[in-house]
Amino acid sequence: CGIVGYVGNKQALDVVLDGLRRLEYRGYDSSGVAVLDGAGGLAVERRAGQLGNLEARLDEVGRDSLRGTAGMGHTRWATHGAPTDRNAHPHVDTTGRVAVVHNGIIENFGVLRAELERSGVELASDTDTETTAHLIARAYDGVDDHGTAGDLAASVRAVCRRLEGAFTLVVTHADVPGRVIAARRSSPLVVGVGEGETFVASDVAAFIEHTRDAVELGQDQVVEIDDAGYRVTDFHGVDVETRPFHVDWDM
Ligand code: GLU
Repeated sequence: CGIVGYVGNKQALDVVLDGLRRLEYRGYDSSGVAVLDGAGGLAVERRAGQLGNLEARLDEVGRDSLRGTAGMGHTRWATHGAPTDRNAHPHVDTTGRVAVVHNGIIENFGVLRAELERSGVELASDTDTETTAHLIARAYDGVDDHGTAGDLAASVRAVCRRLEGAFTLVVTHADVPGRVIAARRSSPLVVGVGEGETFVASDVAAFIEHTRDAVELGQDQVVEIDDAGYRVTDFHGVDVETRPFHVDWDM
């Protein structure tokens, strides 16, 4: 029910956990985080229950194993699959290089799931979300040829064109450090533009302590963020005009 993505000059884990805490009011049953270490590593931790359960897990594995300045977090309100650890987000592809968090519902996940299973992919959760992690990984690797191999944003766009339903998706890839991709259809997504740091979130509350300069994404749009800023396109890769605004109210 809440999403935060971050690329910048601070430890992503701290920023993301703080953002998730600020989104707690939306309600949730599970939470999780993913952090890119900038050297080809992707660390993912997730837990059913309160944020405190995730934090206990992070202390158990050691927060040093989730060091990095790009990452994302999620609070889940289960729609497909029980609120368990294995159904908590982020979901990863079979190689563990692509991580996805999602708010909303992928209506045609049954068809996508059957297609993946026919190709020999073993699904690790009961969620509608997990299909997107595998599809994005396959598009990036050129296994499913959309002409998007090696281009993460283009791979996300190609998969989004196949999805039905409402979604905010945030995607990271271990091979693409320092970059986070987000997409939306009928589900909220805002970009926060700071000094040397950029955010995506379902709600400005997640980043308002860091920046009040924001950009609202329109329907069927994808944003790529890095520490220098952002680029917004439609699902076909065409640059679109953005709607920047300043958050001048207090939360
Ligand atoms: N449909 C997804 C799930 O059940 C996402 C739910 C949400 O919006 O948090 O895992």
